[in-house]
Amino acid sequence: MADRQAEREYDIVIVGGGPAGLTAALYAGRNKVRAVLLEAKGAVVDGALMGAGGQLLNTELIEDYPGVRSILGPDLAQIMTEQAAQFGTEMIAASVERIRVEPDGTKVVETDQGELRAPTVIITAGGNPRKLGVPGEAELAGVGVSYCAVCDGAFFQGAHLAVVGGGDAALEEGLFLTRYASRVTIIHRRGEFRAQPILVEEARENPKVDFIFDTVVEAIEGAPKVSRVLLRNVVTGEASSLDVGGVFIFVGFLPNTGLVDTHVDHDAAGYYVTNPLTMETSVPGIFAAGDVRSQLTRQVTTAVGDATTATIAATKWVEERARRLRAGSVEAR
Ligand code: NAP
Repeated sequence: MADRQAEREYDIVIVGGGPAGLTAALYAGRNKVRAVLLEAKGAVVDGALMGAGGQLLNTELIEDYPGVRSILGPDLAQIMTEQAAQFGTEMIAASVERIRVEPDGTKVVETDQGELRAPTVIITAGGNPRKLGVPGEAELAGVGVSYCAVCDGAFFQGAHLAVVGGGDAALEEGLFLTRYASRVTIIHRRGEFRAQPILVEEARENPKVDFIFDTVVEAIEGAPKVSRVLLRNVVTGEASSLDVGGVFIFVGFLPNTGLVDTHVDHDAAGYYVTNPLTMETSVPGIFAAGDVRSQLTRQVTTAVGDATTATIAATKWVEERARRLRAGSVEAR
């Protein structure tokens, strides 16, 4: 299926193959609508999509997905992919370059495999935690370097942890980590936090939390897992090191929300604002689910829930449009 597509018509195009996209594919298949899922990092082998799963593929162990006591992230990705495929949604290895909205409301999804057309699109393109880009960060990801306290905190019982960042996420997640860690050292590149004062106050009052200001992490070291961070004070230039069992990095998240070729309402951090009842964005017929959506938290469970709602809403949207088409009264949407 990875060969060049000329131009194809669907009811729903699902952009992204993480937990949200795979859930959308599952529900679309069961709803018997003509849907396709596009995954940029995937490859189709013997008719089956491989490499879907999004951030699950970078997650060591998942212990907070109800009904599954404990599972490796890649294993859950594989099961989700197979389950979605079972109900007939087409899955293509294709990278979406642009989504444009035609005057009659048709969405044209431009990919490296050609164009796809549909009245509705569900964007589940996720995003990526911003990286520090220092030596050791990529090499030790999953073995002491983490970007998610809720996902990985429980694996660091009794450890001394470093948290990098000075925003709400760093403070909030750092506080969360005190449930497991013996000590949490928050390392921030400036002398004052960007985070809300109430979170800063809570962190200052927590006896397990201490702070290192005006300091950047220059390298993360350890083998086979993290054992220390190398630091530099940006005011004095002084170098130091800190022995830690893990490093949690919260220096921002970059949602993949730049694909649509028209204005879509988003919050200050760039996440799509959606109708909470339907997951529809401000562009009629474009829905969003998972990490691209503005919301309180970003978990596999929330991605799956968003996508369920989005797909049922998109299906109703398609059916309603078909009804109006039959009645000869489709206005441009
Ligand atoms: P953020 O507010 O953009 O903060 C990122 C932090 O990382 C900043 O302190 C920044 O330092 C630091 N940073 C960025 N690049 C760095 C680098 N290369 N090296 C070291 N430090 C670096 O991001 P966030 O904390 O992820 O929050 C994102 C959005 O979600 C915000 O709007 C936030 O309010 C919201 N959020 C809200 C809550 C809540 O309300 N409870 C919880 C989590 C997130 P500087 O300060 O020096 O720029």
